[in-house]
Amino acid sequence: MRAFNFFSPETVEEALDLLSQHQDSIAVIAGGTDLIIDLNEGGKKPDYVLDISQLKELDYISESDGMLHIGANTTFATLEKNELISEYYPAIAKMADYMGSPQIRELGTVGGNVVSASVAGDSPTVFLAYDATVVLQSKRGTREMSIEEFNVNRGKFRCQIEDDELLIEVKIPQANSNFATAYRKFGKRKSLAIVVLATAMRIERDRDNRIKDARVTLGAVSLHPMRSPKIEKALIGKKLDMEELEPVLQLYTEEIDAAIASRPSVVYKREGIRGLAKGCMMDVLEQYGLV
Ligand SMILES: Cc1cc2nc3c(=O)[nH]c(=O)nc-3n(C[C@H](O)[C@H](O)[C@H](O)COP(=O)(O)OP(=O)(O)OC[C@H]3O[C@@H](n4cnc5c(N)ncnc54)[C@H](O)[C@@H]3O)c2cc1C
Repeated sequence: MRAFNFFSPETVEEALDLLSQHQDSIAVIAGGTDLIIDLNEGGKKPDYVLDISQLKELDYISESDGMLHIGANTTFATLEKNELISEYYPAIAKMADYMGSPQIRELGTVGGNVVSASVAGDSPTVFLAYDATVVLQSKRGTREMSIEEFNVNRGKFRCQIEDDELLIEVKIPQANSNFATAYRKFGKRKSLAIVVLATAMRIERDRDNRIKDARVTLGAVSLHPMRSPKIEKALIGKKLDMEELEPVLQLYTEEIDAAIASRPSVVYKREGIRGLAKGCMMDVLEQYGLV
């Protein structure tokens, strides 16, 4: 690891000043579970490292203005223990539970996971299903964009963040009793499980327990998580009943075939996705009290 100068600002404002001054040669560190590996392996060689882990103003989970706000410095351990999340945001709770080991969950932050935008990252697949928006801030101002827009490669970052920006928060539409959400993944090793295949869904039902709206995402089958308009369209109008939902599983297999046709892993992923998707469907039915 190359030597670097270390900054530990006490406010977001101070952090943004430092980012603005040193933007060509500075790396932000939160929990460090991704960045330290990059520094050790020489993937990043910054002159300055900006430690934002002490910025308590970025550590919050709250509901307001019809949205759930998750501060960038929120760790996966905090998400896992939060009652609002466990009660009303089941797919986020599941993601936090699946994420890494207890040690990684104590350190790893939502901001770090979203900015790393790894193919094997848990939160981007889940946040895409929740129709999340990211909030970015720099000395130049604040901007917001959908996570879909954010997850587009930009040179040294795998997402749309600029050198002088901090990710401030991720926000999603507030839960209500018509929404149900689910997330399932396969990982390589229990409790240190980098995603090998994942899927998330957010379902909205109507008064007759039919699917009014659906967002379905697939993770680890392309550079970034993808939505499946084909599966979403097939789900809309269906009765919330396993017998009626089951035929849609074939479309998951078709999506995997289309996304990774030439990869050897297609052989098990095209079957595996059906198990994950069926698990999500069962979670949704359970949340609605229909099983
Ligand atoms: C053993 C092990 C197991 C893991 N298991 C999983 C897993 O199961 N699922 C999974 O998804 N990931 C996993 N990871 C990856 C990692 O732990 C997560 O991506 C974690 O959330 C990263 O957060 P962090 O705070 O440690 O980020 P850091 O390492 O501090 O930063 C990661 C990147 O984000 C940038 N960054 C961080 N915060 C901000 C911010 N607020 N604004 C702008 N840029 C920022 C940094 O500059 C850096 O580029 C694992 C890692 C290890 C080592």
